Amino acid sequence: MFDSLTERLSGIFTQLRGKGRLSEADIDATAREIRLALLEADVALPVVKEFIARVKERARGAEVSQALNPAQQVIKIVHEELVGVLGGEERRLSFAKQPPTVIMLAGLQGAGKTTLAGKLGRWLREQGHTPLLVAADLQRPNAVNQLQIVGERAGVEVYAPQPGNGVGDPIQVAADSIDHAKRVQRDVVVIDTAGRLGVDAEMMAQAASIRDVTSPDEVLFVIDAMIGQDAVATAEAFRDGVGITGVVLSKLDGDARGGAALSVRQVTGQPIMFASTGEKLEDFDVFYPERMASRILGMGDVLTLIEQAEKVFEADQQERMTAKLVGGEQFTLDDFLEQLIAIRRMGPIGNLLSMMPGAGQLKDQIADIDDKHLDRVTAIIRSMTPAERGTPKIINGSRRVRIATGSGTTVTDVNQLLERFTEAQKMMKQMGGMMGLPGRRKATK
Ligand code: GDP
Repeated sequence: MFDSLTERLSGIFTQLRGKGRLSEADIDATAREIRLALLEADVALPVVKEFIARVKERARGAEVSQALNPAQQVIKIVHEELVGVLGGEERRLSFAKQPPTVIMLAGLQGAGKTTLAGKLGRWLREQGHTPLLVAADLQRPNAVNQLQIVGERAGVEVYAPQPGNGVGDPIQVAADSIDHAKRVQRDVVVIDTAGRLGVDAEMMAQAASIRDVTSPDEVLFVIDAMIGQDAVATAEAFRDGVGITGVVLSKLDGDARGGAALSVRQVTGQPIMFASTGEKLEDFDVFYPERMASRILGMGDVLTLIEQAEKVFEADQQERMTAKLVGGEQFTLDDFLEQLIAIRRMGPIGNLLSMMPGAGQLKDQIADIDDKHLDRVTAIIRSMTPAERGTPKIINGSRRVRIATGSGTTVTDVNQLLERFTEAQKMMKQMGGMMGLPGRRKATK
């Protein structure tokens, strides 16, 4: 996602780098290029026009800054404007004073509503809520079944029409589900509604009726980030037909150009509240405009990375590792293995790398680091004895053959790992030196 936009923008900023001052002509040329980059990313024209006008005005008026050179100033302005286009502050769900809170999902067929219902259910449960998912998509064969499957995975109850009890009438099902939620004390009701392949009047009328009988606290419009230029018309149709209170961007993991993401806030006038980044239930998060803007500019999404790391690296593990570094202790293969396992828990390695600053430029170099590679390394270390893990120096030729056989890899793989590990160990020692307090470090050589 956003790869080509990120590449284009960093190219534009690179050209500005050596300049001492920006002339009017520099600003015009830069603005023109940013405009083209945004249009090529399928951002809606009115959004692009406003964006460029603001960037130009601010770049002209930019005060002379001690801290930033002209290129950095332009990046800062573009970053701030991107944050604005994406909605500024993140917006959280608003909950009803009197439960249940009702969240209705609307959007085209295939937008990702049913998947989102599962993701929201899981997320809400993690936040301490007791959600209920409601199958009010009776249009698409199998939709009820699909919701039941995601509900089960999410560990969340699904309310679906019972045979002989309102089958075929999604409005009735939706209305009944609220009574059911009250009876069984569920505090949030998530209603999955039917979509069509294109916007049509009947679908809108049905969605509007479901809205009327359930009085939702939130109507979330789910939009596939891959749909490009159609995003605007679709978003407008839902804004006018159902009335929406927030947007969820789905399929942000795809290689779409990103225009929908950048247009939808301005077109609907409603905030983007969540982002879906994959088919699994955990590929989902609150939408943070600031982080997304940083990612678009290739500045990386370090905050998300840190948060994910914090979730999987347990506190005591972090402390132990830091203590080791500060104390100048050896970083062993056991520590390395522990870290690898934690990294694997953070999700697919490709997703992690894409959040790192400058990852855009390093794309080719990191292309060969995949999950299988990490799994191979894990297998190799697991095939070593504790003594070997503690003192890798003792791993001679015959031990290498044994380890390769045991882990289903080759001696070359084992050699490579040991080489890389030795380098990492050196680096750790240097870092430890930088962090260490004089006198506390052991005199290691
Ligand atoms: P609905 O018709 O709006 O309910 O859409 P679904 O939830 O059935 O999703 C349509 C397809 O998109 C399914 O194959 C999902 O697995 C897939 N999908 C949903 N969300 C995402 C996402 O964030 N990323 C990716 N890659 N696929 C998704």
